[in-house]
Amino acid sequence: MPNDFDLVVGGGSVAGLAFAAEASKRGLSVVVAEEHDRVGEPEKCDGLVSLRGLSYFGHPPRPEVVQNQIASGVIHSPGGKRFAVNATALDVVVLDRSAYDRQLADEATEGGAEVLTGTRVTRVSESNQGVSIEAGGKTLTAKYYVDATGPASSPRRGILPAAKYELEGEWVKEKVVEVFIDSAKYPGFFAWVIPIGSHRAKVGAAGRGVSPFKALDAFLEDRPATVLRRVSAPIFIGGPVGEFVKGRKVLVGEAAGQVKPTTAGGIMTSLSGAVVAAKWFSESIKKRDPDLILNYQREWEARFLKEMRSMKRLRGVFEKLSNSDLEALVRVLATPRLIMKLSQTDFDFHATALLGVLGLPGLLRVAKVVASAEIRSLLVQG
Ligand SMILES: Cc1cc2nc3c(=O)[nH]c(=O)nc-3n(C[C@H](O)[C@H](O)[C@H](O)COP(=O)(O)OP(=O)(O)OC[C@H]3O[C@@H](n4cnc5c(N)ncnc54)[C@H](O)[C@@H]3O)c2cc1C
Repeated sequence: MPNDFDLVVGGGSVAGLAFAAEASKRGLSVVVAEEHDRVGEPEKCDGLVSLRGLSYFGHPPRPEVVQNQIASGVIHSPGGKRFAVNATALDVVVLDRSAYDRQLADEATEGGAEVLTGTRVTRVSESNQGVSIEAGGKTLTAKYYVDATGPASSPRRGILPAAKYELEGEWVKEKVVEVFIDSAKYPGFFAWVIPIGSHRAKVGAAGRGVSPFKALDAFLEDRPATVLRRVSAPIFIGGPVGEFVKGRKVLVGEAAGQVKPTTAGGIMTSLSGAVVAAKWFSESIKKRDPDLILNYQREWEARFLKEMRSMKRLRGVFEKLSNSDLEALVRVLATPRLIMKLSQTDFDFHATALLGVLGLPGLLRVAKVVASAEIRSLLVQG
C-alpha cells in the first residue's frame, strides 16, 4: 500500500514549519502534527536573532513580525563593570516569535503542506516500507518521520530550567540587550533583558542548580516592574547530537541539538537544519537514493560544527569561572580595540569571532587573570 505522505513532521515550531515550507515547495507531500491548538502558542522564546541568518536560509521575517532593532549589547560583571558592544552592524532584531511561527505556517500551507494543530505524536514505528505515526487519534503513514519536537526529544544532558517574564519597567533601555553574569546567582548562565519597545522587555534568568524564578525575582527586586506574562521553559545548551538520521527517523532543530551552547539561541540554527534537511530529502526522494539524506548532516556540520565546538569550549571555561575571574575578564576584555572589532563580526558565529579577535596573545592575556590552572589550560588549548 502506498504511504499517505512523503514526510510526517512532529512539532510545528520554527524547525518543523520551515522544514514543511521548504519540502513542500520542492514538491514533496508533507503533513505537520503540532500538539498545541494554535501555532506559536504558548510563546516561550525571546526572539533575539540576526536578520542575516534568517535571510540567508530563505525565511526573513515579515516587517510586522519584527518587534525591535537592537543597537547595542552590554554585559554586566557581578561587581557592576560594563562591557558594551555596538550592534548596529550586526543586524540583530527581536521577533514576535508567535507571529514568526505563524508566518512559517503560512509559507508551509502556501507550498501545499498540511498543518494539523491539536495533534500530538504519541508513537512512531518503522518498517521496510516506511513509518507509521500515531497522532491525535489518527494513523499517518509516510516514507520518513521528521522529529522537530524540540527539547521534548533532546537528550537530558544540557537542559537548564529558565524563567522568563514579559514586563513593563521604566529602567528598560529601548535598544539595548543587557546580560548579567554572576557565578553565584546564575551559575553557568546569566540573567537577560531583551527590550521590545519603550519600557517593555522580555526578561529572564537561568542557572545550574538554582530556582530560575527565585533568581529572576531577586534580579527584579531593585527594578520595579509590572509583569504581564510569566513563562517557565527549558533551554538547551548541550550542542548537536551525534546522529541526525537514524533509519527513517530524522531529527531537525532543537531535537537535533542545533542550538548555540553559549546563549541557547536556536532560531537561526534550527531553521538552517530544517532548510538543509528539506533540500536533501527532496534530492533523495526524487533520485530514489536514500543515502543522499546523509548529506543533510554533512552540510549542516560543515557550516556549524566548528562554531558549535568553539561555543562548547567557551561554555566549559565560563562554567568554571568564579566571580573574581569574571571581574578580571571583563576588565581585560573591555578594550576599545577589541570592542570595535567585535562590533563588526557575526552574531551567529560569536565564538569563532571572539577567539579570532583575541588570538593567542589575547587568550594568554585572559589566562593570566584567571585564578585556576585548569581554566588557564582550557583557554589556551586547541
Ligand atoms: C525562554 C527561552 C528563550 C529563548 N530565547 C531565544 C532567543 O532569544 N533567540 C533564539 O535564537 N533562540 C531562543 N530560544 C531557543 C529557541 O526558542 C529554540 O531553539 C527554537 O524554538 C527551536 O525550534 P524547534 O522548532 O526546533 O523547537 P521548539 O521551538 O521547541 O518547538 C517544538 C514544537 O514541537 C511541539 N511538540 C513537542 N512534542 C510534540 C509531540 N509529541 N507531538 C506534536 N508536537 C509536539 C511543541 O509544542 C513545539 O511547538 C529560547 C528558548 C527559550 C526556552
